[in-house]
Amino acid sequence: MKIGLFGGTFDPVHIGHLVAARLAKEALKLDRVIFIPAGVPPHKNGFGLTPAAKRLQMAVLAVGYEPDFQVSDWELQQEGPSYTVDTLEHFASQFPDDELYFIMGADMLCDLPNWQSPTRILELASLIGMTRPGFAMDECRSTLRRVFPRSEERIHYVEMPGLEISSTWLRERLRERKSVDYLIPERVIRFIEENGLYDRRANS
Ligand code: ATP
Ligand code: MG
Repeated sequence: MKIGLFGGTFDPVHIGHLVAARLAKEALKLDRVIFIPAGVPPHKNGFGLTPAAKRLQMAVLAVGYEPDFQVSDWELQQEGPSYTVDTLEHFASQFPDDELYFIMGADMLCDLPNWQSPTRILELASLIGMTRPGFAMDECRSTLRRVFPRSEERIHYVEMPGLEISSTWLRERLRERKSVDYLIPERVIRFIEENGLYDRRANS
């Protein structure tokens, strides 16, 4: 089996994430994609992050009943920061007979040389970089080719329609009480409203 792992803060999950997962699955013929909400991600300090349980629930609601999309709470169960390399070690031992693919946006992929243990990451999984507006894929590709010359076939680039959407932008809209219709799955919007998430008074 080919398993896609899709890490992120998902604060909140949005259509950019869902389209990326769907198109990565199609392009690399993955059997399923597992969304993995991050605990406190190494590059974000955790301040102002929506509680893990809520981000997990939003991911579960977004994935809904799609049999080929799942959500794992593994990173949320870990103490402290979750490095991708640790997550991949875990899934590699859980699925020893499967091929792992780690899905991410181009913004993350281009930064690979700065990650913890990138060479080990490339041994554990193939990487799938999804195009994202504002990130020059060609530049990224040539940098990674230079830094990791032996791993070229482990790194895949997948075009997706440019969705200039980020959770940061959506959090701002939610705080300003602007519409996020169609940008976030309806069930997730309802959950955000019911739980008073991203409310200016509650969170900042
Ligand atoms: P934030 O603004 O809080 O950083 P985000 O929208 O970047 O949120 P993350 O949870 O950080 O969302 O992203 C999880 C993964 O999804 C990352 O690999 C990121 O690059 C990718 N991603 C997020 N939004 C898009 C998008 N619109 N197009 C392509 N990839 C995306
Ligand atoms: Mg991000």
